[in-house]
Amino acid sequence: MASPQGSRAPLEFGGPLGAAALMLLLPATMFHLLLVARSGPARLLGPPPYLPGLQVLWSPRMLLLWLTWLGLQAALYLLPARKVAEGQELKDKSRLLYPINGFQALMLTALLVGLAVSAGLPLGALPEMLLPLAFAATFTTFIFSVFLYLKALVAPASALAPGGNSGNPIYDFFLGRELNPRVWSFDFKYFCELRPGLIGWVCWAWLHGPEGGGWDECCHLCGDRLGTDCPVLPLLQPQVLINLAMLMQEAELRGSPSLAMWLVNGFQLLYVGDALWHEEAVLTTMDITHDGFGFMLAFGDLAWVPFTYSLQAQFLLHHPQPLGLPVASVICLINAVGYYIFRGANSQKNTFRKNPSDPRVADLETIPTATGRQLLVSGWWGMVRHPNYLGDLIMALAWSLPCGVSHLLPYFYLLYFTALLVHREARDEQQCLQKYGLAWHEYCRRVPYRILPYIY
Ligand code: NDP
Repeated sequence: MASPQGSRAPLEFGGPLGAAALMLLLPATMFHLLLVARSGPARLLGPPPYLPGLQVLWSPRMLLLWLTWLGLQAALYLLPARKVAEGQELKDKSRLLYPINGFQALMLTALLVGLAVSAGLPLGALPEMLLPLAFAATFTTFIFSVFLYLKALVAPASALAPGGNSGNPIYDFFLGRELNPRVWSFDFKYFCELRPGLIGWVCWAWLHGPEGGGWDECCHLCGDRLGTDCPVLPLLQPQVLINLAMLMQEAELRGSPSLAMWLVNGFQLLYVGDALWHEEAVLTTMDITHDGFGFMLAFGDLAWVPFTYSLQAQFLLHHPQPLGLPVASVICLINAVGYYIFRGANSQKNTFRKNPSDPRVADLETIPTATGRQLLVSGWWGMVRHPNYLGDLIMALAWSLPCGVSHLLPYFYLLYFTALLVHREARDEQQCLQKYGLAWHEYCRRVPYRILPYIY
């Protein structure tokens, strides 16, 4: 049983008060973005065009659809994997095993969605689907987090994360108590990290329109049949969900998807495909090795990522932007540079952590630490202390640029992501200082910049 006294790890995110505030603020921000992206002025900082009531948000059909989606991804997770990888060593010196079949899940999902759409499945008949679907995802995340919290109460102390065992229920519920909650070999955190949310972000193709029909043709907003003069519908239409849907919808509306829409879709598909292709690399990230699995990660993975990371595509659908080939080429170059740094840094650290004698990293300079592990001090990790964050931020910029500079809204991702990574970097520094002590001081002396050379 877990110790009731709690751990001595310093509280993060402003402690219980900060955790409670974030549990309200994050879903509220997500719904705000969903509402303003399709409104005419598309003002990030302005009020939403209207406040949806519970009758708009709550839809048992959308809940069923969401649970079906999770069930499909869980079934794909359980399919035979091309490889089974070992995780990092745990407190009790054991290592967990993880199936590496995320890319296979992405391909099979694309195939199934394509077949379903061509067979005429009325996937996108509800214009107001996006909001109730996001609500269903948020609702299930809360329930799921309660389950994770209760499960952690009976977990052995050795299974707890360093940070989510403070003894304060609000804080621990938010941060996550158990490091790797599992039922048999099904690992909840690893499953949620890269599959339902990421695949949902780029893969779901929803076609819209009253003529699609099929799910429920009554508009929850005004009570009329779809297609009648609903006063709210124009704010929501045309209704599609995630990136590919935006692209398909734009093709329907304007004859072909715009260059800007192609770029946003292409860049983000590359990002998601890459994450799943290099799925094994997630095993050495902070989310897997350090953070417990609670509301923070569950909401981030299952709701925040699919419903807010598709913001640029949602924006472009409602606010088309002209983009010439020369500017598009420069944006592609920016994305390529970001990707090169991001992939190079993540793969280098992952290869090194798996096997420091691997010929690809054996020549790199290192600092020994008292734990027996070494720190890279040349290559990407000799340039700044978080080169992978730098690459990710450069890509974030490239995802927003196709949306032009007339609105702040599509830059939300870049702003939020900068704040997230600066804060995350500080958390990681703190953890590394605790782990490596003097060796970490030496690393900071040798590599003085955190994310951006000569600036930060
Ligand atoms: P990292 O993958 O950077 O992992 C940090 C860990 O790496 C440290 O705790 C330490 O762990 C190890 N490390 C740090 N410095 C060195 C060094 N010099 N040599 C060897 N090992 C070192 O962090 P994240 O998990 O935060 O990020 C992983 C990726 O995910 C990043 O590319 C990030 O941009 C991305 N990301 C994307 C998000 C999104 O929403 N799109 C959100 C969060 C992250 P140890 O020594 O124990 O191995």
